[in-house]
Amino acid sequence: MKSYQMFIDGEFVHSGSGKTLTVINPATGEVISEIPAGTAGDVDAAVAAAGKAQRSWAKLAAIERAHYLREIAQGVRENAESLARTIAEEQGKILPLAWVEVNFTADYIDYMAEFARRYEGEIIQSDRPNENIFLFKAPIGVVAGILPWNFPFFLIARKMAPALVTGNTIVIKPSTETPNNAFAFAEIVAESSLPKGVFNLVSGKGSEVGNALAGHPGIGMVSFTGSVESGVAIMQAAAQNVTRVSLELGGKAPAIVMPDADLDLAVKAIKDSRVINTGQVCNCAERVYVHEAVAGKFIDKMIAAMKETRYGDPLTEEDIDMGPLISKEQQEKVDAAVKQAVSDGAELVLGGKCAERKPGFYYEPTVLINCRQDTDIMQKEIFGPVLPIATFKTLDEAIEMANDSQYGLTSSIYTQNLDVAMRACNELKFGETYINRENFEAMQGFHSGWRRSIMDP
Ligand code: NAD
Repeated sequence: MKSYQMFIDGEFVHSGSGKTLTVINPATGEVISEIPAGTAGDVDAAVAAAGKAQRSWAKLAAIERAHYLREIAQGVRENAESLARTIAEEQGKILPLAWVEVNFTADYIDYMAEFARRYEGEIIQSDRPNENIFLFKAPIGVVAGILPWNFPFFLIARKMAPALVTGNTIVIKPSTETPNNAFAFAEIVAESSLPKGVFNLVSGKGSEVGNALAGHPGIGMVSFTGSVESGVAIMQAAAQNVTRVSLELGGKAPAIVMPDADLDLAVKAIKDSRVINTGQVCNCAERVYVHEAVAGKFIDKMIAAMKETRYGDPLTEEDIDMGPLISKEQQEKVDAAVKQAVSDGAELVLGGKCAERKPGFYYEPTVLINCRQDTDIMQKEIFGPVLPIATFKTLDEAIEMANDSQYGLTSSIYTQNLDVAMRACNELKFGETYINRENFEAMQGFHSGWRRSIMDP
């Protein structure tokens, strides 16, 4: 079993608590590592180191900071194989997807490095003659990056790279479910020539380490990705110091299938999006509205497609579409959501139970039809390979049901009609609308959104 240490001020150190937490492989249920159970004292040390380092880091030319980022991206590429295996082992995503995550992360760091020569201020004409107003972009200071478990490695880069290139330093806190890849990243940083204190890593529970970071007076901004509940707790903790927050929260992406849609394309795209990462993606299709004229055909094709989904252990089995869910708790949550849907009147047409194979936290690919808009299965994030379907008669009705959600991250529409597609883009109140495809966002894309999905700083 591996044993990790936190990374503070360029050194690997134990937590002041002397306590540890264990990490589990969700495909086997086995303990794979132990990590430090950090404390508020560890957070103090990391924030102090990051604060001290930030003063000289901010004085470097942005292009010099970019050189360090490129060196780290290269380190990620050189360690790609072991990083992908580490992610697959602790998170349960299939190896090809873990490889995509690692390569995308390296490319993303390089992409952010490119901004070194591009981020600019503004010059504004004043009302007074002979006066100009200069707007300079200045670093905020120390950024806290608090991460979820579903794309744990990419999200390190999403927090770190933009912060560093613009002259900030960072303290990262990974999820307790998937910290091993973050420790592996810290090892790459330690091998690089990045000045000490610019990147720091603390580990431990959200309610302790995460809360201490969000409420720390030395933090200039908290960049968080995770659930709405934790986002609210982070806003509350940050409010004590009026610290700015950037929150990327949950989703309940609707997919609208119009009568003129290419049904085979729609079925493939929606099914792939529902099983990728075992349905644990904030912007994947979480509910479908299909026009009643094509509903029968669509549902038959969707059941056939979902039935073909193969699942297994990402590290020992090949040719699989998905791995296990992240934890037993998540498996029980998904199962409870399906049982609730059935008792709310939905019809179960495929799956609907925890997979019989043991060990591991697997869930059968599941399809529910005749789902009512006002029930939890259409309103709450499922985060599993479960597809709830409802029908509609008019585009107005479909758009109204899609918008009837506390979430507003991503959405999609399947149609051959440009007017219909453009109406959907204009009227769907979501940060992103995909036409005839599902997620992922492009490298240049980013999450934006409405309601409880996003808080921009
Ligand atoms: P989570 O909210 O349970 O945990 C995320 C992080 O927050 C963890 O590191 C956790 O330790 C920490 N945390 C928990 N309570 C805290 C507190 N009180 N103070 C400070 N930190 C705290 O989320 P998760 O289960 O790891 O991830 C799944 C969720 O993330 C889903 O809702 C998903 O939609 C969302 N997500 C969103 C995006 C996006 O870009 N919008 C991307 C990925 C995941």
